[in-house]
Amino acid sequence: MKRVGRVRRVRGVTEVTGVEGDGGVEAVEGAGLLQGGRERRVRTGGVDLCVVELGDPAAPTVVLVHGYPDSKEVWSQVAARLADRFHVVLYDVRGHGASTAPEPLRGGFTLEKLTDDFLAVVDAVSPDRPVHLVGHDWGSVQSWEFVTVERTEGRIASFTSMSGPSLDHFGHWIDRRVKRPTPRRVGQLLGQGAKSWYVYALHTPVLPELAWRGPLGKRWPGLLERFERVPGDGYPTASLPDDAANGAWLYRDNVRRRLLHPRPDAYAHAPVQLITPLGDAFLSERLYDDLERWAPQLTRRTLPAKHWIPRSRPEQLAAWITEFVTGVEGGRPRAGATGRYAERFGGQLVLVTGAGSGIGRATAHAFAEAGARVVAVDRDAESAARTAEMARLIGAPDAWAETVDVSDEQAMEKLAEKVDSAYGVVDVLVNNAGTGLAGSFFATTPEDWRKVLDVNLWGVIHGCRLFGRRMAERGQGGHIVNIASAAAFQPSKVLPAYSTTKAAVLMLSECLRAELAGQGIGVTAICPGFVNTNITATARFAGAGPEEEKRRRKRSARLYRWRNYPPEKVADAILRAVARNDAVVPVTPEARGARALSRLMPGALRAVARLQPPV
Ligand code: NAD
Repeated sequence: MKRVGRVRRVRGVTEVTGVEGDGGVEAVEGAGLLQGGRERRVRTGGVDLCVVELGDPAAPTVVLVHGYPDSKEVWSQVAARLADRFHVVLYDVRGHGASTAPEPLRGGFTLEKLTDDFLAVVDAVSPDRPVHLVGHDWGSVQSWEFVTVERTEGRIASFTSMSGPSLDHFGHWIDRRVKRPTPRRVGQLLGQGAKSWYVYALHTPVLPELAWRGPLGKRWPGLLERFERVPGDGYPTASLPDDAANGAWLYRDNVRRRLLHPRPDAYAHAPVQLITPLGDAFLSERLYDDLERWAPQLTRRTLPAKHWIPRSRPEQLAAWITEFVTGVEGGRPRAGATGRYAERFGGQLVLVTGAGSGIGRATAHAFAEAGARVVAVDRDAESAARTAEMARLIGAPDAWAETVDVSDEQAMEKLAEKVDSAYGVVDVLVNNAGTGLAGSFFATTPEDWRKVLDVNLWGVIHGCRLFGRRMAERGQGGHIVNIASAAAFQPSKVLPAYSTTKAAVLMLSECLRAELAGQGIGVTAICPGFVNTNITATARFAGAGPEEEKRRRKRSARLYRWRNYPPEKVADAILRAVARNDAVVPVTPEARGARALSRLMPGALRAVARLQPPV
């Protein structure tokens, strides 16, 4: 049932509020998604634009520009989160939503006309102060035009771009690859060419309009939900078929013209924040390789997500927009952590088990340095708390400590529920917690086996199952790292149980990698050799009495200290492996050597396995 919201006109501004109905709150013409919005009309160049404002008009103005096939309501969840701090302005692009369409349509959607519209809107809503511009998809494509043409200089304070390149930059990108081809460049060209199939389709006459006003328009919400995992929460609005049919002219009026003749001086005259979803089906990450050339004040961010991030990741976007806009207002045109992996992991939620010591702590801190939000999990509460505290000091915008034994299934289930409700879906999971167990097969009791399997294998299984499932359900990608060991491929007569657990973790990682590949979730097994951590102080030596165990721990600690490979280097390898989505990563020269021998000369490794090690 279509319900009508309350509409109040005050000095030319219409205030729209929803009404309580049996199915919740709804309002007129999609405004229901923008609760508390004040609506006004802005007339420009023969069209009448529908503009909605939220928040305090005295606060810095953030203008959100929607893409194709969308209307301003695509921003509703982001806008609601920004409205506490900013004066938020949304408008329906001409021919979309509640704005009127130009007549004729052909030639009515040129970037020049879209710039006229933008200027008319900002003159109406923020006549005295430059605005912070945010664009998604075609909203970003046109915003690149706004921020690179002379006539908007002084009207734009910053620009946040998502999933929509400048057509001029894109034109130069193609040009360089065509004129100076290398195998890599040709590959990039073909890759993006394949992703652009819909652009060619939209250039065909009449058919797109028929499809959108017919079956495609009806199916679109279902397709968005199925393939993009956009939650079916009242979006897209009823205007979708008309938006999509009219919006085809965005492509027809601009794409060919600009790609063939890109402007040579399309330089951004405001700081730019580029947010790139890693699982975007329509745009390749490589498109932005040369962007510093065009936008020298550039902040780059990435996140595991598909194309429709205003719907699927509103919290993250609102946090990044807030940070960037606040920084620019405060005279800091670049935002975020500055660590080597800041672009890749800044703002992401990373959970590390066994984070209280050694490799786990170093990994939590490396992610913190990259600006990630960190959940440090350990069975030892105090050391987890110390890791989290330090993570905040190093650069994590947020860090939490959680005390859990990873082998305890129920405790892990509770942890997963808590993390989900309190911190969100984990973007990167590092199953690191593990213990050492040495001793011959016959000296290893069933109880010893159970304990080491419970932590080293079941801990990883619980982590993958509970956090991996939520990652998969969210449908926006992510990454799982499992810490195996060089012992996974190096047999040894003194580590039968430990090596078995690690070989199992390696195979589990490989299987899971195959299973989750289609969902954009990467899985990596990290296989370190000897790393100087506390593991030697806690490792068990099956069959040894207390005195003998103490002596052996001391001896192995001495050996590991002498080897002196720092856990920070393993952490670095972990971040690199996630960024590159590597499958199996041996760390330390001895681990790389063992991995090579296991493939090329397994007989040599078997011979080494028979030797009695010095510990
Ligand atoms: P570490 O002893 O320094 O740290 C392990 C951390 O895990 C500790 O904080 C400990 O409290 C925690 N932990 C242990 N069992 C747990 C449980 N059941 N639940 C929650 N937390 C638990 O050891 P490390 O060397 O940093 O080891 C980390 C991982 O790296 C382990 O999986 C280990 O097998 C693997 N690894 C280590 C080496 C090495 O040489 N140090 C080599 C290869 C693989």
